[in-house]
Amino acid sequence: MAAGALQGKVALVTGGSRGIGRAVAQRLARDGAAVAVAYARDEAAADETVERIRKDGGRAFALRAELGRHGDAARLWAAFDAAAGEHAPDGRLDIIVNNAGIGRSAPLASLTEDGFDEVFAVNVRAPFFIVQQGLARLRDGGRIVNVSSGAARLAMPEIIAYGATKGALDTFTLNLAKELGPRGITVNSVAPGIIDTDVNAGWLRGDPQAWAHAASLAALGRVGQPEDVADVVAFLVSDDARWVTGRVVDATGGSGL
Ligand code: NAD
Repeated sequence: MAAGALQGKVALVTGGSRGIGRAVAQRLARDGAAVAVAYARDEAAADETVERIRKDGGRAFALRAELGRHGDAARLWAAFDAAAGEHAPDGRLDIIVNNAGIGRSAPLASLTEDGFDEVFAVNVRAPFFIVQQGLARLRDGGRIVNVSSGAARLAMPEIIAYGATKGALDTFTLNLAKELGPRGITVNSVAPGIIDTDVNAGWLRGDPQAWAHAASLAALGRVGQPEDVADVVAFLVSDDARWVTGRVVDATGGSGL
């Protein structure tokens, strides 16, 4: 993709402080967008993302927005307004990437109602209301990308509720694409497989056997990196993907084929 494909655009990336979200924020900034890096609690990590982008010649700003509680979307947009300044003087934007998510889950027998509510609140309810309350700000011709998971398509009963959240997110994508089509806004999900991020560090990094097993699950034979996902997001938000909407784009390296 040509550098500068997103020149003049404004993007919001939730969970932009680390992992896949950080890679997406860096990539969209490299393509020319001014990027709002939304984070939950780790201000230093969000600042680090912004710093990396600025060093690279890009534009970015951080905003704190903890998701998963009622009123979270309204607080996120208020924080966006407060932080955007010269980057989005009219409070409008072109791209929303709903990336923030939690993997905490449990098998059916041991999942609690609170655990269920928490994972749905962050992975489904937050993106739903971020979009609902962001629609007046999102310019016609804009882009929404929801970061889903291969777990919406591959049965993994050990994280049954997590998989269900991503299935719900994909159905949200489908309906939203229909609703927003008349405005020229595309909506797609990207479904990563196992990616080497902090969320997997506990079981994946430092255990060669676990690493080899994770790599063997992908047809392409390795563990995914955040950039493998970020590059797909960059395509979907670019003009090149203007005729793609309502889809789940697999970024699992061919897992479960
Ligand atoms: P990560 O834990 O490294 O990063 C998650 C990001 O989401 C962080 O920036 C975190 O601050 C943010 N976040 C989490 N809870 C939040 C909350 N309550 N409020 C606001 N922000 C919150 O994880 P990651 O691997 O980069 O995952 C990013 C997305 O990709 C998630 O939606 C995840 O479900 C999805 N995904 C990851 C993998 C993987 O193997 N890493 C696989 C499939 C899908």
